[in-house]
Amino acid sequence: MIDSHCHLADEVFAADIDQVLARARDAGVTGALCIVDAGSEAELTRAGALAARWPGLRVSVGVHPHQAGRYADRPGEAVAAVERALETLPAAVAIGEIGLDYYYDFSPVAAQQDVFRAQVRLARARRLPVVIHARDADDAALDLLLEEGGGEVDGIFHCYTGTVEAAERILAAGYSLGFTGIVTFPRGQNVRDVLARTPLDRVLVETDSPYLAPIPHRGRRNEPALVAEVARAVADVLGRALGEVVEATTANFARITRAAIARNPLVDNGLSR
Ligand SMILES: [Zn+2]
Ligand SMILES: [Zn+2]
Repeated sequence: MIDSHCHLADEVFAADIDQVLARARDAGVTGALCIVDAGSEAELTRAGALAARWPGLRVSVGVHPHQAGRYADRPGEAVAAVERALETLPAAVAIGEIGLDYYYDFSPVAAQQDVFRAQVRLARARRLPVVIHARDADDAALDLLLEEGGGEVDGIFHCYTGTVEAAERILAAGYSLGFTGIVTFPRGQNVRDVLARTPLDRVLVETDSPYLAPIPHRGRRNEPALVAEVARAVADVLGRALGEVVEATTANFARITRAAIARNPLVDNGLSR
């Protein structure tokens, strides 16, 4: 089972990372994608150390839309930060999370768009898949991605919370959807409706830890072990066996990251076998 999106290099895990990794292993989590802020030296260092000790760990680096304001009018510097991170992290197999967040609006919209656009171009040039963060901006993110020829690289719209209609456009464009603990929330019906219509070969499971702990852990720090709860909830919604969901989501993750693994001989390709 793969946790396709977690912030394991966040400082909130630094003190008890041994136990966090042990619990993940005990829960059957064989791999995870650690999302790293390309602008944070501390996160990059922790991610490198984590990847060295957990062979199943992959890394994705990017500038989040919340941080885009730091690079307003200088999107090239965001790209340079991501490129530096890709060079120092052999386990890096994707660019993200990148995208647009019109809900929190922490960065000016123009800066978000410029920084996202520049990183999509980088992903195309490097032939790397993208991890997309879109909040109240699913159509806008997809439009920008397609304008930039992002259809040439694979990608995941992580923690999908948008409409059924936007999901249909995203799936038609060839991308996959990541589902979190929101699937277990009473108010997650819109997300369950989207999930029920998503083909199993486009479904990823993720924790987005330390955020979004699934019920009954809601409100506490989330961690990769709890992706097992997400997978169980996904299996319930889809009316499938848990084993089938685990197998499919693991294969989906391997397929999406395979190009990057082939590109980078330093990365063990165990996930793609
Ligand atoms: Zn996100
Ligand atoms: Zn995230």
